[in-house]
Amino acid sequence: MRIVVATGNIGKLQELETMLGPLGVEIKSMADYPDIPEVVEDGETFAENAAKKARVVAGATGEVALADDSGLEVDFLDGAPGVYSARFAGEEKDDRANNEKLMRLLEGVPPEKRGARFRCVVALALPGGRVVTTEGACEGVIVDRPRGEGGFGYDPLFYVPRLGKTFAQLDMSEKNLISHRGKAFDQAREVIASLRPAGIQNSE
Ligand code: IMP
Repeated sequence: MRIVVATGNIGKLQELETMLGPLGVEIKSMADYPDIPEVVEDGETFAENAAKKARVVAGATGEVALADDSGLEVDFLDGAPGVYSARFAGEEKDDRANNEKLMRLLEGVPPEKRGARFRCVVALALPGGRVVTTEGACEGVIVDRPRGEGGFGYDPLFYVPRLGKTFAQLDMSEKNLISHRGKAFDQAREVIASLRPAGIQNSE
C-alpha cells in the first residue's frame, strides 16, 4: 500500500516517516510529485486545513493521502498563534522569527500564565472521497528563552513540566511518545491498518 504524505516540511516528514514506518506502507512525499502546487491553508481550524490538503493531494495523485495540520495555542494570547503558527512572524515561515516574536509577546508574563498546548489533526483522504480525521494535543509551558537543539518550530520554547525538558531537548522517539502529532498518529495508524485492499475497493 502507498500513502502520499502532503507536507513539504522536512522536520515534519522525518517525524511522520518514523511514526508510519512500522506499518510497512510505502511513503511518498510532495517531493515525489513536484507538479502538485502547494495547497493554500486558509481554513479557520486545524481540521479544515488538514482535510483540504489531504483531499487535494488524493485527487491529484489517485493515492491515499495523509495530511496533518498543527500549531501552538498560547493561553495568554487567547489561543494564538493557532492555525497561523507557521506564519506568526510573517509569510517567510521563519522558525527563529516566530520564536522571537513569541518570547517578546510573553516578556514579563509569570510562569503560571504561560500555559500552552500543541494541537494536531491528521486527515486521511481515502479512495472514493471519504476523509477521516484524528486529533491529538500536548500540554506545556512557554519558557522565556530557547532550550535544546533538536526538533523544529517552537520546540525550544515548549517546556513539558513532567519531563523537566523542552521538546527540543527530547530525541525524536521520546517526542513522538507524548507529542500532539504522536497521539493523532497513533489513531491514524489504526485507520491505516484497517485499510485492507478489499476494503479500499469496496469504498469506491
Ligand atoms: P503546519 O502544520 O505545517 O501548518 O505548521 C504548523 C506550525 O506549527 C509549524 O510550522 C510550527 O511552527 C508549529 N508546530 C507544529 N507542530 C510543531 C512541533 O511539533 N514542534 C514545534 N513547532 C510545531
